[in-house]
Amino acid sequence: MSLQAFCSQQIVTPQGIRAGALLVEGEAIRAVAARAEVPADAVLTDFGDSAILPGLVDSHVHINEPGRTDWEGFATGTRAAAAGGYTLIVDMPLNCLPPTTTVEALGAKRACARNSSLVDWAVWGGVVSDNQQHLGSLAATGVPGFKCFLVDPGIDGFTMVSKQQLRDALPHVAKTGLPLLVHAELPGPIEAATRELAEADWCRYDTYLRSRPDEAELAAIDLLLSLCREFHFRLHIVHLSTHKALAALRRAKSDGLPVTVETCPHYLYFSAEQIPDGATLCKCAPPIRGEANREQLWQALREGVIDFVVTDHSPCPPQMKRLEEGNFRTAWGGIPSLSVALPAVWTLARRRGFKLLDIAKWMAEKPAQLAGCGDRKGKIAPGFDADFAVFDCDSEFTLTEDRLHHRHPISPYLGHRLTGAVQQTYLRGSRIFQDGEFPTKPAGREVLTALL
Ligand SMILES: [Zn+2]
Repeated sequence: MSLQAFCSQQIVTPQGIRAGALLVEGEAIRAVAARAEVPADAVLTDFGDSAILPGLVDSHVHINEPGRTDWEGFATGTRAAAAGGYTLIVDMPLNCLPPTTTVEALGAKRACARNSSLVDWAVWGGVVSDNQQHLGSLAATGVPGFKCFLVDPGIDGFTMVSKQQLRDALPHVAKTGLPLLVHAELPGPIEAATRELAEADWCRYDTYLRSRPDEAELAAIDLLLSLCREFHFRLHIVHLSTHKALAALRRAKSDGLPVTVETCPHYLYFSAEQIPDGATLCKCAPPIRGEANREQLWQALREGVIDFVVTDHSPCPPQMKRLEEGNFRTAWGGIPSLSVALPAVWTLARRRGFKLLDIAKWMAEKPAQLAGCGDRKGKIAPGFDADFAVFDCDSEFTLTEDRLHHRHPISPYLGHRLTGAVQQTYLRGSRIFQDGEFPTKPAGREVLTALL
């Protein structure tokens, strides 16, 4: 089997950052060795001062294919992923048609991903109002877990679950042993706030922010934590945006409840104070909140109350962002960021004293664990897949459209000055991205959970 040696001054391993050579045999990592120990027959590549990070893992991506491939698809979404240093994405069960709520729909999804994905992939199953009887077979067919919404997701084809429907589904979820990922906002506080804003100016960001109060997240998380105590399932809170739920989450974790939490680059990067009125590119749900809130999210990452950072890459055609009217009520909510997440997070993480080790944990190791493949993905370690990103952590650039690569090159990060550039990405020992180019045919494979 071919042996490759990738040299760097900064190889980011779980034990620390070391200088040396990453030895890759076929598709897997053999070892991290000193340069002097590189076997004579190895093919040598030297990245110099650029770091070797584990291939990033994004457990929260909306690919939209099949059914809404004009929004995003596997071919375009995974180009953005490869350009962003990602080597594994896990697709959300909504936005596509059919939604991934039955084994049949999972088959349709797999047919689309095969032969068109540049990176490895997996697919979450959906829990909706009426598919409890499908959850066991979805688990047996290889989904790593499930996703549900406690509030209307705002897209045809995927229903929210009421409290009772969730209670009905939970014994089925618990039996699979797989995690349930939950969009944690309750409709009550949102509806009440929105009623008050009937006459408000919806081109103002502040109106949108007030329509999705912290209390909607807080109430949902309180409910979920009590259900977690009752039904003993693995609970994962997606895209936490409010600091107000941190105390309850901290307590639940210290009580030993099986709960994990993610946040997203946009909640760590932007703040409500910076978002101009009409800037609907920044609309997402839950919303980007104030500056003080953002600092508490960073602090929660430091403490480990928030476990990791994933993109919630959720693109749409530009006209759906209603850029000309700038109306936050009618614009689509979602921010695509696969190609820019690493520099966006690194730019602000570094200023707060975080290291590449933190990035590797937040953006590779922990999401891989949630996706059930933490034994093969997300770390530079012997026996793991040889997935890695070559990252120049000092270079600065201004984000331009040509760096985005997803289907419609719109992004709230355009024009921002960012630190850290992904130079190359390797998937199982093969280079899939280099300096804006994608040199290989799509060779991404489905990653099935360790349960199988
Ligand atoms: Zn999402």
